[in-house]
Amino acid sequence: MNIKRNVLLNPGPATTTDTVKMAQVVPDICPREKAFADLMKGLRSDLLKVVHAPEDEYTSVLFCGSGTINIDICINSLLPEGKKILVVNNGAYNSRAVEVCQMYHLPHINLQFSVYEQPHLDAVEKALQENPDIAVVYCCHHETGTGILNPIREIGALAHKHGAIFISDTTSTLGMIPLDVVKDNVDFCMASAQKGLMAMSGLSFIIGRKKIIEESKNYPTRSYYCNLYLQYAYFEKTGEMHFTPPVQTIYAAIQALKEYFQEGEEAKFARHRAVYNAIHEGLDKLGLRTAIDRSIESGLVVSVLYPDYPNWDFEKIHDYCFHHGFTIYPGKISTSNTFRLCALGAITQKDIEDFFICLKSAFEHFQIALR
Ligand SMILES: *Cc1c(COP(=O)(O)O)cnc(C)c1O
Repeated sequence: MNIKRNVLLNPGPATTTDTVKMAQVVPDICPREKAFADLMKGLRSDLLKVVHAPEDEYTSVLFCGSGTINIDICINSLLPEGKKILVVNNGAYNSRAVEVCQMYHLPHINLQFSVYEQPHLDAVEKALQENPDIAVVYCCHHETGTGILNPIREIGALAHKHGAIFISDTTSTLGMIPLDVVKDNVDFCMASAQKGLMAMSGLSFIIGRKKIIEESKNYPTRSYYCNLYLQYAYFEKTGEMHFTPPVQTIYAAIQALKEYFQEGEEAKFARHRAVYNAIHEGLDKLGLRTAIDRSIESGLVVSVLYPDYPNWDFEKIHDYCFHHGFTIYPGKISTSNTFRLCALGAITQKDIEDFFICLKSAFEHFQIALR
């Protein structure tokens, strides 16, 4: 079978290999069979290896849903009675966590920083000192909305110093930027299969400390379907998801993990870096400017400022590139007009070079004047 290859430069779902796509074509199976539980057991254990989580302290819990389900679950499940969450917020994805707190009417502090900067650690520490009832600190590893990498190791250390647990949304770094949950002071992290692991959307997972999940059994419950302890306990008892898992998506994730370990953590990181560097190089050549200081960029997402070239029209450029097999994506910064080019997925430096040939011909096609 010949499947058209599209280069996705959006921040996930990512371009996948054909072998991952084809891994979904399997004989029908009832997911309540032991054979399927065995597959999930291996998958859960491999996920721990990706973030170097020791099996005796950490577990991974699978859920059926997009990445946001993890944010919902961690926040609604891990807050003890009478305690507060501190959200260290410098962008759209941290704001999503704030919205979850609001939706569940949870006591929280929205510690807001500029979307153009990393959070200031002294302000985080001050909030922790002034609010001894903070039990959970939350911060995104990589603000996918802008491309900023946040100092989670330092934020996690502050949380622990003040007796709080640390949850990090690592959806857009896990499997791309090496992460070591113990060294990085992360009690809970999360991702969905369609980003760093280059698998299919519909499977998400939380990796976290077993002891804390077990303690959370006695915390107020705020959801039925999205409760971390309930799903964990069901996995412990039966090896299965509480309700129907995304069966074929799980086969794809298993294949993707196999390919992840084949490529290797460092080599994969280097490939994403090379793609990112090629993006900056191509932008420089076209005279396009970016919104975020390169020194704080993750190396996975680049926010490009709309140029003031005559005839510039993002939608038209998008459609032209899409037609040629390249997907570019709108920005997520409310205070400036940007679009995003991302280094996720099974793509290479050569794909980026081809993309810039396409972009240049789009500029010529629409007579977008280059200065
Ligand atoms: C992609 C992403 C999510 C999840 O988004 P979904 O659309 O629900 O899959 C969550 N957090 C971050 C940082 C992300 O990049």
